[in-house]
Amino acid sequence: MEFSALQAIQLRVQRAMLAAGTQVRLLAVSKRQPDGAVRELVAQGQLAFGENYVQALVARSEVFHAIELEWHLIGALQSNKCRLAAMHADWVQSIDRSDIVAQLAGFRSADLPPLNVLVQVNIDDETSKSGCVVGNVPALCAAIASQKRLRLRGFMAIPRAHVEPDARRASFARMRALFDRARNDFDDLDTLSMGMSDDFELAIAEGATMVRVGTALFGARPG
Ligand SMILES: *Cc1c(COP(=O)(O)O)cnc(C)c1O
Repeated sequence: MEFSALQAIQLRVQRAMLAAGTQVRLLAVSKRQPDGAVRELVAQGQLAFGENYVQALVARSEVFHAIELEWHLIGALQSNKCRLAAMHADWVQSIDRSDIVAQLAGFRSADLPPLNVLVQVNIDDETSKSGCVVGNVPALCAAIASQKRLRLRGFMAIPRAHVEPDARRASFARMRALFDRARNDFDDLDTLSMGMSDDFELAIAEGATMVRVGTALFGARPG
């Protein structure tokens, strides 16, 4: 008997989760993948998907309108896209500055549940990368918590690429410490989104509660 890619990843997540004694959700990162590939995963029971562009998320959520899937925006959010993001996303994982907070809240319609949001943290202080610097995280969390149409669920991070596992592990551990501290100050924090195809088991060992996996589920992304 052969396992599908989804089953194989689910097994690895399950094993890492049992070892860590945690609960972990798998987000399937469908960016640039054809609709048919998403449909195949849905048929196998995967219901949460991540896209990195607002327009792609909107298009995809319209294609799959008849099925209640959960759509996560995981890419940088420009302020002129806040309205669309607030209307179509279930989660925005990439909040990294306060000017988009009020906009997202303002555009979130009253007939939808509050928008779930994560603060994206630039944990390795990389100048080229989006994400909030660690020092600004408390103020950004407070700004989000003051908005009734947003629900602060936790943090998302993408540690520095191309480093040895020990350095990666240390970045994950710093995120975990930041998350644990923030949980004392804010209710509802239950999500630490970190770990991708190459390192999700390491991230789970260090306390991730959500992993975002693309290539390992779908294969390489089409150009
Ligand atoms: C593309 C992407 C992923 C998935 O990356 P893979 O290496 O394909 O698993 C996860 N998170 C973010 C923010 C991404 O942009």
